[in-house]
Amino acid sequence: MTSTATDMRQLYRDVILDHSRSPRHFRRMDGATHVADGINPLCGDKLRLYLRLDDDGTIAASSFEGSGCAISVASASLMTETVNGVNAATATRWFGEVTSWLEGPHKEQPIGHGLERLAALDGVRDFPGRVKCATLAWHALSTALNNEAGPASTE
Ligand code: ZN
Repeated sequence: MTSTATDMRQLYRDVILDHSRSPRHFRRMDGATHVADGINPLCGDKLRLYLRLDDDGTIAASSFEGSGCAISVASASLMTETVNGVNAATATRWFGEVTSWLEGPHKEQPIGHGLERLAALDGVRDFPGRVKCATLAWHALSTALNNEAGPASTE
């Protein structure tokens, strides 16, 4: 591994640590238009995602609360930062891109345009047992936007 690659790994680890210790938008939301629960039984991660959509379908605000491992919390924090201000249709498309990027067999595949900050989760892709911790928030996002009944589960 080159020193640059090592530096990037360290940077990514620092980002995950920072977001897990000080998650952004970690609060209950009053006046949410969409709410979904997500559970990852494999790890015990639980979260409730809140969205407030404008009339034109823009995600004006998102927040979450819950408990889980560092990766699940950091991923949810990064997700709220990523989708705030984004159109719901784009966010739904991103759900597919992010889950296939995290779960996909093509390790050389870069993260898509607009999703660059999620590159911090790159190391998770090497640990299949932890991928669901990282995708949990995105499953909850998809469920919330689709207004599906019942909690989103990674299983
Ligand atoms: Zn977890």
